[in-house]
Amino acid sequence: MTDARALTPRLPTLRLLIDGQHVEPVEGGTLPVINPATGEPLCEAPAATAPDVDRAVRAARRAFEEGPWARLGGRARGNVLRRFAELLSSRRDEFALVESLNNGKTFRQALSGDVGPGAATLAYFSELAGHCLGEVLPVDGPFHTYTRREPLGVVGAIVPWNYPTCLACWKLGPALAAGCTVVLKPSELTPLTALKLGELALEAGLPPGVLNVVPGLGDQAGEALARHPEVDKLSFTGSGRTARRLLQASAASNLKKLTLELGGKSPQLVFPDADMDAAVEACFWGIFSNKGEICNAGSRVLVHRDAYEPFVERLVARARKMVVGDPLDARTEMGAQVSEKHLMTVLGYIRSGVEQGARLLTGGARDTGGDRARGAFLQPTVFGDVGPGMRIAQEEIFGPVLACMRFDDDAEALEVANGTPFGLAAGVWTRDVARAQVLAQRLRSGVVWINCYNEFDDAAPFGGFRESGWGRDLSHHALDGYTQVKAVWTKLPPV
Ligand code: NAD
Repeated sequence: MTDARALTPRLPTLRLLIDGQHVEPVEGGTLPVINPATGEPLCEAPAATAPDVDRAVRAARRAFEEGPWARLGGRARGNVLRRFAELLSSRRDEFALVESLNNGKTFRQALSGDVGPGAATLAYFSELAGHCLGEVLPVDGPFHTYTRREPLGVVGAIVPWNYPTCLACWKLGPALAAGCTVVLKPSELTPLTALKLGELALEAGLPPGVLNVVPGLGDQAGEALARHPEVDKLSFTGSGRTARRLLQASAASNLKKLTLELGGKSPQLVFPDADMDAAVEACFWGIFSNKGEICNAGSRVLVHRDAYEPFVERLVARARKMVVGDPLDARTEMGAQVSEKHLMTVLGYIRSGVEQGARLLTGGARDTGGDRARGAFLQPTVFGDVGPGMRIAQEEIFGPVLACMRFDDDAEALEVANGTPFGLAAGVWTRDVARAQVLAQRLRSGVVWINCYNEFDDAAPFGGFRESGWGRDLSHHALDGYTQVKAVWTKLPPV
């Protein structure tokens, strides 16, 4: 792996990207961009407000209705998307460095978990672009009737800060493959790689207006995009709280369609016959990968009573050995939380766990060792004897805090596993294939991983049941979310 500390960060052009032009925000606002590992400013990014979003949406509308993009066939769009993917892949170090400095995640995770997968997703959808197929329908009567899959139009893509490059690509890949045009609003905390993606898209040959990038505050740029009557669809990844606002904005404007990828409180169920080495490692990374800032973090580990004590002991021992520190150091396993404010939220949850009677087994405090005192570092934290009703067992913490619980039988495990408002992912650890399959059917979540966790592939859909979301990212199911079906009837003369 490249030595990240030897690289010089290449920041993007710090202006909005609208209609193929880098422009200053109309109201001249800026967003402070902080390196959470040092607490120091990296730069000031432009902050879009409603007038900028309006310009961006109008550019996207023109590009959709009149521009060459609308007239290109699927395979031709796929060729542009493939160039976009290749450019991102060839500059992955450069992107990963900026992501690591801006988000606090390790350079290694930025490379392998964020930028690399983002490029792969663009490449995957470049292949699917020529496959938006219709069908000929066997209707009764003298008709030739078929369906066409047509692009939905202008997409507002609103993404969070935890996987800024990857999640932007999860939206851009299928939207562009389908023939939509996009206004991308990254999180105010991590606007840099979205602006860099905008530059790459132009270099790849995306016509002006097809991708516009408008960093800004959620309640300004985000809200303006959500309320804009010329936006046909919102593709959102973020919190349930914001999702509810988007639904209201859609209802108050033009009933724009929504894909919502929201939070989770995903359980991992461990049975005594499991491969314990593999299960410990997967439960460890399931919560501590990307500093716990993962929507599908395995934040609850449910262990059968017979295996609970030794299993949790091993998990705690692994957590105590975790290397927390400089995100650019190749030996570091966990970097800094995304911001000081987020760190305070996570510490609040840790306090609630203690107050509600959970047993703090390791961690539980800010990590202030050495240089880490300057940044937003947390100790990897494991609670034991967690009750299913406690806040740390019910609410998404989005940080490196694991809740361990005991169960007696499969029925209890299922009841606890399904006993939150969420339903994003679940893990099952057992060598009993029949048990695993029954649980896979009865767990209420969009993904079930059996004897593995956190596995992703562009061909497999990702998304949630219940309050974890609507619709799916990745796979051909994602493409459905950016197209609409038209039925065409032709009356045939008698022969
Ligand atoms: P958030 O909802 O606060 O922000 C997400 C995005 O929405 C940001 O770009 C923000 O600026 C924007 N936003 C905020 N208020 C808005 C408004 N009123 N109108 C329009 N846009 C607005 O979430 P976050 O804190 O950035 O991210 C963490 C959340 O994202 C967690 O709940 C996590 O589980 C979820 N998440 C889900 C997935 C998934 O695929 N299911 C992946 C990653 C993160």
